[in-house]
Amino acid sequence: MPEINNPVNLLELTPVQLKEFVKLIGEPASSAERILKYIYREYAAGFTEMSDLDSSLQQKLAAGADLGELAPLEELVSADAQTRKVLFRLNDFNTIESTIMFFKNPGSGRERRTVCISSQVGCAVGCRFCATGQQGFVRNLSTGEIIGQILFFLRRFRDQMPAPVKGKNRAWLTNVVFMGMGEPLANYDNVRQAIAIINSPKGMGMGFHQVTLSTSGLVPQIRRIGAENLQFQLAVSLHAADDVLRDRLVPVNRKYPLSELMPACREYAAKTGRNIFIEYALFENINDSVGEAEKLMHLLDGLPCSINLITGNPIASSEFQPSSREVALIFQKKLIAGGIRTMLRVSRGTDIAAGCGQLRSRWLGQRGGDI
Ligand code: SF4
Repeated sequence: MPEINNPVNLLELTPVQLKEFVKLIGEPASSAERILKYIYREYAAGFTEMSDLDSSLQQKLAAGADLGELAPLEELVSADAQTRKVLFRLNDFNTIESTIMFFKNPGSGRERRTVCISSQVGCAVGCRFCATGQQGFVRNLSTGEIIGQILFFLRRFRDQMPAPVKGKNRAWLTNVVFMGMGEPLANYDNVRQAIAIINSPKGMGMGFHQVTLSTSGLVPQIRRIGAENLQFQLAVSLHAADDVLRDRLVPVNRKYPLSELMPACREYAAKTGRNIFIEYALFENINDSVGEAEKLMHLLDGLPCSINLITGNPIASSEFQPSSREVALIFQKKLIAGGIRTMLRVSRGTDIAAGCGQLRSRWLGQRGGDI
């Protein structure tokens, strides 16, 4: 149970911890079930919306707890209305970004709704092509701030959910990806607690295959999640197949070079029995040649994985420009011919600064800082 300060943000607590909290304030544990239902099935934004709670419990909650509401400062919707990005202000006036993306499979008509969330304010990894990487590191997000990003979108769209789906958020929100601002494995404990809430049947009730955590390659933490057999999909942002180029693109490679990262990935896959997603952003004349594709195939030989290629979102004044679709298709074809399952992802929301950290960078540029 986390230390109880006043007020307690209920989004920090797993369902089991919430039950303990309810007992601590002198209420029956069964009240926790009703509070959980309101938070994670009805997406209540405040205690006054929890109409069937006793008034004494409502008063105790109002006095000693909150739901950690994030304040949206800016909300942008792409021209095709399929991507919505939000800049939030946190209680300490720092800012973070989150995105929701809507997909429809043209063949099956199946719809997906994916929320991309941040795990830190800024990021210490400093990837050269990433707007967040240029902002530096400020602090880790708390579990409640992580969960609050997902709930914001569930609350925003709750009135549009078909009636039979409301109450079963698993059916509406299909994926949560830790691919926003920050290196999630550098905020291990809070991210782990958030995933426990996302996975819990009394929390968000999402399956492990619906949660993806993307890392720049922190080797000790990859080994740790393999040993703990944590339940989610791991994605490794590789972007280069040799140390010289990766040192330049993803500076953490100087600390954890490919000779350490790749064995850690193999160990993780062997221990968990899961495939790894390899993320590879294609940048013009930097990492998009057929020769680079061949090196990548060689590096991944024998690793149970699939590759997600994306033509990167360029940041202002960057030497990194996205590869053309034609070049990306040639790169993809080469990998598929080599027997590696390879998807070419479409960049989403390029008209609304959807790349990681771009909206916050614009905000910082206008204001000269968060605080
Ligand atoms: S790409 Fe990810 S790990 Fe790299 S600087 Fe950006 S937020 Fe950090």
